[in-house]
Amino acid sequence: MAKFQNPITPPDYAFGWCNGDVARGSGDEMPIFYPATGQQVGTLIEDGPRDVDRAVSAAAKAFKTSGWPELSVEKRATILESCEKIILENIDELARLECLATGLVMTQIKAFHLPRAAYNFRFFAHYISQASGQRYDNTEGYMSTAKREPAGVAALIAPWNAPLALATMKIAAALAFGNCAVLKPSEQTPYSLVKLVSLLNTILPDGVLNLVNGRGSVTGAHLVGHPNVDRISFTGGTITGRDVMAAAGRQLTPCTMELGGKSANIIFASADFDRALDSALLSIFSTNGQQCLAGSRILVEETIFDEFVDAFLQRMSRIKVGDPLAKDTEVGPIASKIHMERILSFVGHANKDGDKVIGGGQRREALGDGYFIDPTAVAAKSNASTVCQSEIFGPFASFLKFKTEEEAISIANDTEFGLVSYIWSDHLPTVMNVSERMRSGVVWVNTPLTRELRAPFGGYKNSGVGREGGHSCEEFYTEEKTVTIPKAPLDIFKFGKMR
Ligand code: NAD
Repeated sequence: MAKFQNPITPPDYAFGWCNGDVARGSGDEMPIFYPATGQQVGTLIEDGPRDVDRAVSAAAKAFKTSGWPELSVEKRATILESCEKIILENIDELARLECLATGLVMTQIKAFHLPRAAYNFRFFAHYISQASGQRYDNTEGYMSTAKREPAGVAALIAPWNAPLALATMKIAAALAFGNCAVLKPSEQTPYSLVKLVSLLNTILPDGVLNLVNGRGSVTGAHLVGHPNVDRISFTGGTITGRDVMAAAGRQLTPCTMELGGKSANIIFASADFDRALDSALLSIFSTNGQQCLAGSRILVEETIFDEFVDAFLQRMSRIKVGDPLAKDTEVGPIASKIHMERILSFVGHANKDGDKVIGGGQRREALGDGYFIDPTAVAAKSNASTVCQSEIFGPFASFLKFKTEEEAISIANDTEFGLVSYIWSDHLPTVMNVSERMRSGVVWVNTPLTRELRAPFGGYKNSGVGREGGHSCEEFYTEEKTVTIPKAPLDIFKFGKMR
């Protein structure tokens, strides 16, 4: 028996989108569930290899004939600004569709995810307006110019945890630099992106933005192995990332990989205690704990460890878990049953490894058939524990104690991942030393989850390859071309004229 209302009644079927129109796939039907009730709310029609070929051909044709790559930056920027506007005009419906498939909390979707989705388009509209080429004058009498040109067809692969915020970064960047694209959302969460693509297609020329639906092993694998794809931008798990990169390698297709994380949140005794506490809770429990940049390993200096953990547990016990639509809900359901069971399995790992479960660790049966779990915290025996080494990807915090700065650095870096590190300290030398030595793509000092879009974002080690962000996206989504022109005829060897 469902306990909560659905946020919206979606279309019965989630279809793909090809060449400016809805495109029904030829593959299997797959159920889509609302995580808050566990009930099926719709059906996805999978796009098989032929459907993917059709979408890639539409993008390739649009790249050749739509005029999109050749459009002046002023015109392209104006169109990107219209994309921002149409998202803001449809914010309620998009937010409800996002909530329906992901179970994300509505207040968080509206406050963070959707404004960010809209801003991604505005950001790239402004960025391209300032782009310039280079000219090299040579004393031997020639000049070379270097310019960036659109790369071609971009395959954009998105995960389920924040579909709109993450996919729009890829769409806006690919389109801003003149590419045409084929987007593949996660098979679990197609609705909001299908709607988004339908809205954007009222603005964009036909074929510039296409969408295919389906499983990674079917639709995704065919897309990333396609010989007519020129760029692959992937966000997802590290294991999947390896397969995608292997497929890209076979075609020599450049790719970026935004992968998993197990980020250290290091809290020194010199930190502002209350702000560090707010941040620790936010960085592990927002987005239902399902975010790559979660501060999931909380390292606390020994002298404040007990006080900090007690305060954390008190606050954690008061977190409102429940209906994603309710205004006071802070943590909603886990995105799928299988993922909920995986998260809860780490309680077993913790017990086996000699860690102590200090809060939560159970399914919230009282909330019905939805995939709700208690916010969970574990005092880990050591950083070698499974809960400290695996990306759990849920509202599940692991605490570790450290005595010295050196020890904190060593624990923080002792992981296969390297996406984000958080440092909390008001002692400048500590901040300087630790931030210099973090083996992660991003270091947040005395602030959580603060993304500057001009700056590169991405991971060291198994957290990724390449970066997203202003300049990083410009490099990725373009080819560089050098044209050399002599100012006057140059002296050159005259083969065959020597005699
Ligand atoms: P996933 O790897 O299972 O799937 C991601 C996407 O890849 C989905 O669309 C899926 O259908 C597709 N896919 C799966 N196999 C494929 C294949 N062989 N070829 C092509 N596509 C394939 O990841 P997920 O479970 O959807 O997302 C959670 C993961 O994403 C976590 O590990 C999280 O850390 C990571 N993530 C990373 C970032 C980042 O910026 N670094 C951001 C968000 C999420």
